Amino acid sequence: MIFRQLFDSDSSTYSYLIGDEASGEAVLIDSVLERTEHTLQLIEQLGLNLALAIDTHTHADHITGLGALRDATGCKTMMGRESLADCLSDTFADGDRLEFGNLYIKVIYSPGHTDDSYSFYLPESQSDNNQPMLFSGDTLLIRGTGRTDFQNGNAGHQYNSLFNRLLILPDNTLVYPAHDYKGWMVSSIHEEKRHNPRLQMTSREDYIALMDSLDLPNPKMMDIAVPANRSCGDMA
Ligand code: FE
Repeated sequence: MIFRQLFDSDSSTYSYLIGDEASGEAVLIDSVLERTEHTLQLIEQLGLNLALAIDTHTHADHITGLGALRDATGCKTMMGRESLADCLSDTFADGDRLEFGNLYIKVIYSPGHTDDSYSFYLPESQSDNNQPMLFSGDTLLIRGTGRTDFQNGNAGHQYNSLFNRLLILPDNTLVYPAHDYKGWMVSSIHEEKRHNPRLQMTSREDYIALMDSLDLPNPKMMDIAVPANRSCGDMA
């Protein structure tokens, strides 16, 4: 397995490239439009073919590279079936397996940050280091969780996604979020259960009250990014 974590410093977004060495087929999670050229260069240098580009959710803080990657490579583009994007090759839903070469990731519906939020799970059997990997989007961040106050976000749904879907994964699962603003790159389910302040709530009601009290400003890109991302980053 080939694995690369890529960072866009303008939006603090992580993108993830996972490739199957045997077949050369690769998947890219949460691409950033401005990083397209750089990413395509890396894919070529690693001897990979991009088979699939997927987003964990409709982002409000950067423009997706889905459309640009599709135009450059002919890759399939997918998001969750709740997404309003009208430009995708296909959609996925909870429990689906997304295959690339001899590898696959499992799709976990984890709404709350948005109603089209998904996480992707690469089981231990697929991973090189015998540790499962979770690409948690903006549902589970390192020492935080994604905001729930716009794009049909819902703190109660997020509580269920966190406690009943993600935190039940094996403790040694590596957690790779869609963003980090403090320089964290990877965590684990074990570490987040113990040290993530938002996960120390004992009840759903307390979690909802905490999220409702945050009062955050809207992302500066939101009015541009959300409509652009519904057409896979095509700004026309
Ligand atoms: Fe987000």
